[in-house]
Amino acid sequence: MEQNPNRPTPNRKQNGSVSKPEAESEVKTKKEKKRRELTHKTIVVRSRTVLVLMLAALVALCGRLAFLQIVDPYDYAQQAVEQYTYEVKLEAKRGTIYAADGTTKLASSVTTQTVFISPSDIYAKATEEKEDQPAIGETAYLQWLANGLAECLDGVDAQFILDKYYGLGESKLKYKYLVIKKDINQTEEDKVRLFVSENDLELQIALEEGTKRSYAEGTLASHLLGFVGSDNNGLLGLEFTYDEFLSGIDGRAVRAQDANGNELAYNYESYIAAQDGLNLVTTIDVTVQSIVEKHLKETYYEHQPEGRVSCVVMDVDTGEILALAIYPNFDSNDYTTLSPEYQAKLDAYEGEDKKSYRSTLLNEMWNNTIATQTYEPGSTFKVITAAMALESGSATRTQQFNCGRQITVAGQTIHCHSVRDHGMQTIAQCLVNSCNPGFAYIGFEVGHNQFKNYFKNFGYTEKTGSDLLGEVSSIYFDTTGVNFGDVELAVYSFGQTFKVTMLQHIAALSAVANGGYLVTPHLAKHLTDGNGNVVQSFSSERSRQVVSEDVCKDIMSYLVNSTKNACVSGYDVVSKTGTSEKRDTLREDDYVSSCVTFAPAADPKIAILVTVDTPNPEFGIYGSAVAAPAVGRILSEVLPHLGISPDESESAVDMVTIRDYIGADAKETKEIIEGLGLKCEIKGSGKTVVGQMPKGEVSIAVGGKVILYTEDTDTEDTVTVPDVTDKTPEAALKALLNKGLNVQIKGVFDGDTANCYVISQSIPSGAQVAPGTIVVVQCRYEGSSD
Ligand SMILES: [Zn+2]
Repeated sequence: MEQNPNRPTPNRKQNGSVSKPEAESEVKTKKEKKRRELTHKTIVVRSRTVLVLMLAALVALCGRLAFLQIVDPYDYAQQAVEQYTYEVKLEAKRGTIYAADGTTKLASSVTTQTVFISPSDIYAKATEEKEDQPAIGETAYLQWLANGLAECLDGVDAQFILDKYYGLGESKLKYKYLVIKKDINQTEEDKVRLFVSENDLELQIALEEGTKRSYAEGTLASHLLGFVGSDNNGLLGLEFTYDEFLSGIDGRAVRAQDANGNELAYNYESYIAAQDGLNLVTTIDVTVQSIVEKHLKETYYEHQPEGRVSCVVMDVDTGEILALAIYPNFDSNDYTTLSPEYQAKLDAYEGEDKKSYRSTLLNEMWNNTIATQTYEPGSTFKVITAAMALESGSATRTQQFNCGRQITVAGQTIHCHSVRDHGMQTIAQCLVNSCNPGFAYIGFEVGHNQFKNYFKNFGYTEKTGSDLLGEVSSIYFDTTGVNFGDVELAVYSFGQTFKVTMLQHIAALSAVANGGYLVTPHLAKHLTDGNGNVVQSFSSERSRQVVSEDVCKDIMSYLVNSTKNACVSGYDVVSKTGTSEKRDTLREDDYVSSCVTFAPAADPKIAILVTVDTPNPEFGIYGSAVAAPAVGRILSEVLPHLGISPDESESAVDMVTIRDYIGADAKETKEIIEGLGLKCEIKGSGKTVVGQMPKGEVSIAVGGKVILYTEDTDTEDTVTVPDVTDKTPEAALKALLNKGLNVQIKGVFDGDTANCYVISQSIPSGAQVAPGTIVVVQCRYEGSSD
């Protein structure tokens, strides 16, 4: 018999019925009474299904009864009473997981329909003889029924149904429940219902209602949400962490079954309503989450890392996580299928045990490494060392620290990443230059004990207490077993030889951005009941202050717009990059590239931390070139979405916006366009604009060209797109405009084009396109080595 996890299980009752008062005692509040009424309605609706299921169980029990009658001396009459009493599970509805707006559903339970046939009823109908006509015959009847049913269902053919039916052998005479297809869609359901009603097949074909978990956006926030098992229990992510609230409590009904088994009375001997699960409202902003995921994927394919690309976006004041994503991700609706990236790894695997490697990959794919993995933070940690030095008064704002390109500590030489000597630098300059020797000296000023104390105060020695699943502990001086000597102090000061989670790091860094308070990163806002009432709120109180507001302000001011690739024209943002060596792999060139950003600089609201684990060195290793561009692109979309308006900005080139001129007078339009600083050409001899290139309302660089078409004739004119990669933004603009193309330039911050080059163009060189076509040019700053 086909197993269905959602199928009510008819159980043989053991010790008489549960009495009504006992059942009532569990129904305490008004809310629960309401719930009980609702569930009662559902029960009635489902009664046909339950009937068939009970009949199936009854038939199965008949054989057992016959056996007992012959060989068991037990009182048959007494037992028969028990056989006709059944307990039915009333499934609680799992709560919905919402985004921060409280209305966007991230995970919800949806009703499903399963089609099943009753072989014994099919056989009975096929062999039924009526007064005036002979029986149809099993073969002919089944073939007709299978053809009709297969017509209703996608991907099911008549032979499949025949095989299932005949596969039962002689036991088909007993079976009432043989699943043909689960989780059918609405069209299929409508067709099945019509086929059944038109042909009086209510006994032969039936639908069973159940629920399944549905994730509206599939892969969106999959590492956060996790997924549920076949019995609707949370297995990973928020589904697991908040399972006790989401799952609700199943109810049960104990009821009598009459001896014929053909009719079911609607009265229960005992009835305990299911209590539906609570809903979870999270801190996730779906727009921010989508923006982040889009850019992580882009970064993954640009830098082809061996590991993954990860990002957390957090409110620095409350610790609320607006977005948290890892790429490659997976589809929570279909979590046992490897994502294309992991499938490619499996396909390339040449080892013997492919099955166990697949399990390894699945676990890797599901793993939310932002909480469950530690890494060496590298230079992004310099923000913390600088805060320690200023807060403790160990160093002053004017004190200078030497680079000298290297420093020797206890016989070990530590090099600066820069080939150029940074010379003598203040703390501010050390930060901007990301100078390693400079920070080793700053660390010595802080001193061993003070450094260790601040390290603990910033939360690096304890889990953050977030509600992310499986948060792990960091690896540092108390746990490594290595004496915290001068060499350790020097390298800790620039973020190497200890490992923390991204969660710990973004929490500590956010303290320097929010005025000094350590916050707990978290995902849950509150729980609501079925009527939307808040049942429980999760606090987002700040805990201890670890650094003073003045120090925070100064450090933020040192790093305003210091990482060009993470900047957005019109905004001031604070950024620090990192490129940390992975010391636990034996290969050279294994790095974690990262970038942290706080925005807006004057009063940070959000922190963004992006890491790229082991980028392919062929496409760059430095945080400034690998992680920072992702941050810049994320910010450019997230800041306007959060309602943070830009200051006046200076673009790399002057831009103008053209309109949709279709229907306008061609000559007048030409004058308007030329007045914008653009060239304009009218094609055809008509008076009215019927087409234009570029189309619609769009911004293009001054000096570009707009073509107005006045006749509905196809033009054969094309131009060849030139290669502008590796050119400066100015040179690219000139080359494209000269061809009669239009241009949009991205990635240039506040008009500063020093060390800035084109890394890609939206239309490849050599392509033949219509004059006036827009080519989007992406630029990136080069030259930073951190
Ligand atoms: Zn240096």
